[in-house]
Amino acid sequence: MKDAISRRLLIQRAAGAAMLAAAGAAVRSRAAEPARLDVRDPLAVALAYVEDASKLDAAKTPKFVRGSNCSNCLQLQGKAGDPYRPCALFPGKLVAVGGWCSGWTPEM
Ligand code: SF4
Repeated sequence: MKDAISRRLLIQRAAGAAMLAAAGAAVRSRAAEPARLDVRDPLAVALAYVEDASKLDAAKTPKFVRGSNCSNCLQLQGKAGDPYRPCALFPGKLVAVGGWCSGWTPEM
């Protein structure tokens, strides 16, 4: 009986340790991810970056081309499907794929 309890306790502790290790790996992975570009970042402000191009006031943003956003910009990098991805114009930061800035360059 005592052996059965000890084995069960050992298995529970091993499972708990495995879950903690997995959670720690997930946190480390997320911590290594670059930060999202803040719309108040000086370069973001200079390039009129927004996180949601659909909310842009085209009248106030003459360079805006209807239908343009980060997802169809040549500068966007990273993996398709990720909601935030690296951009060549904002090194070390992630931009929203639905965002836009005046550096938008049509894909070829
Ligand atoms: Fe988005 Fe392109 Fe501007 Fe980068 S350069 S923020 S991908 S519109």
